[in-house]
Amino acid sequence: MKFDRIMIRYGEMALKGKNKKLFEQKLKYNLSGKLKEFPETTIEKTQGRMYVHLNGEHPQKVMEACQKVFGIHSLSFAVKVEQSEEAMKEAVLLAFHDARGAQTFKISSKRTDKSFPLPSQEINPMLGGHILRNTDGVTVDVHRPDVEIKVEVRHEGVLITARDYPGAGGLPAGTTGKSLLMLSGGIDSPVAGYLTMKRGVELEAVHFHSPPYTSERAKQKVIDLAQELAKYGSKVKIHVIPFTAVQQKIHREMPSGYSMTITRRMMMRISEKIAEQQGILSITTGESLGQVASQTMESMNTINEVTNYPVIRPLAAMDKLEIIDISRKIGTYDISIRPFEDCCTVFVPKAPKTKPTRANANYYESNTDFSEDLEKAVRESYTIEVDAQGSTDQQEDAFDDLL
Ligand code: ATP
Ligand code: MG
Repeated sequence: MKFDRIMIRYGEMALKGKNKKLFEQKLKYNLSGKLKEFPETTIEKTQGRMYVHLNGEHPQKVMEACQKVFGIHSLSFAVKVEQSEEAMKEAVLLAFHDARGAQTFKISSKRTDKSFPLPSQEINPMLGGHILRNTDGVTVDVHRPDVEIKVEVRHEGVLITARDYPGAGGLPAGTTGKSLLMLSGGIDSPVAGYLTMKRGVELEAVHFHSPPYTSERAKQKVIDLAQELAKYGSKVKIHVIPFTAVQQKIHREMPSGYSMTITRRMMMRISEKIAEQQGILSITTGESLGQVASQTMESMNTINEVTNYPVIRPLAAMDKLEIIDISRKIGTYDISIRPFEDCCTVFVPKAPKTKPTRANANYYESNTDFSEDLEKAVRESYTIEVDAQGSTDQQEDAFDDLL
């Protein structure tokens, strides 16, 4: 016997009153997108639940795919069997073994079909006894069992549900709009992107690239990171910004103590232009308070001056270790630690000002006109579309347009 379906529970969505319908539709849509690689699966929506019918697809692989979909609180394997004691016994044993290492269990049964001859008080010991006879050292614990196996006797069959697997939580992708993620090749910004997606936000990304100071491999890193993020939602479009000219000009003409701050301000200005162009209403960054010179309160204040778009900083109040934990869990850490330089490490000054002020930044910037450089960077940006399977680089198309 094998599991024939996965039961999907979505806690938070149930609380969302009027939005519930939209959220359920989005969740179902996102799930079906995710399950494209398992073409036999089908999705059934019932009262406050969804079932993914496996129809022969690999249970564990489908489970792993479902666990990446936001909006799902928890999941369990389940199997529907006929109303026979033999079949039910076999199914509860299957369900018990799904909770590898469980030492205690509890059977909770419910009989909605009253024509079934045994009442639930008798179903529990009948099925529990079968598990006890077929395992070693396992006991029943009705208060705090390692695993609770649910048995529902319905008219059309008996549904047996195994242990809970954690879902990704959050809200279904696409239910709360779009944000423009400033995606570097570091550890932090992909985690920031993930956490924003978790709240139902779709992402586009902007990446500042400074060839020849930064290599193609540094850009590839960002594409690979976006691909990991795409596994949690749908496509991620990366806007690659040629940033060399702006960085060189800053390096030449701005005092070195302020070059970091001013670089960030230029990035923010360009990001806002891209967001505006794309109809995106917010910007997300991986800034975390106190991590580096550019992330003091003074820096954030000075950088933030140049945009009045909402800047979402999911990591602002998180510890580095917590951030690293998440990056490991979501699969971005190993990509982030590849050694290629990003555009900021190359130009990083020896002694960046840790307490910049708006007044000074404005004063230095007022001596040099950057507006044409910023326009040019936006004009010459190109996009790369990345989905969970890979990317399509549109750089060549962009060049065709210029010819
Ligand atoms: P990360 O680990 O995300 O690179 P960080 O700790 O290195 O962050 P900073 O270098 O100060 O921090 O960058 C702060 C934020 O600015 C990043 O999290 C990212 O959102 C944005 N950023 C930095 N460099 C780039 C870049 N080359 N392209 C796009 N965004 C960038
Ligand atoms: Mg970085």
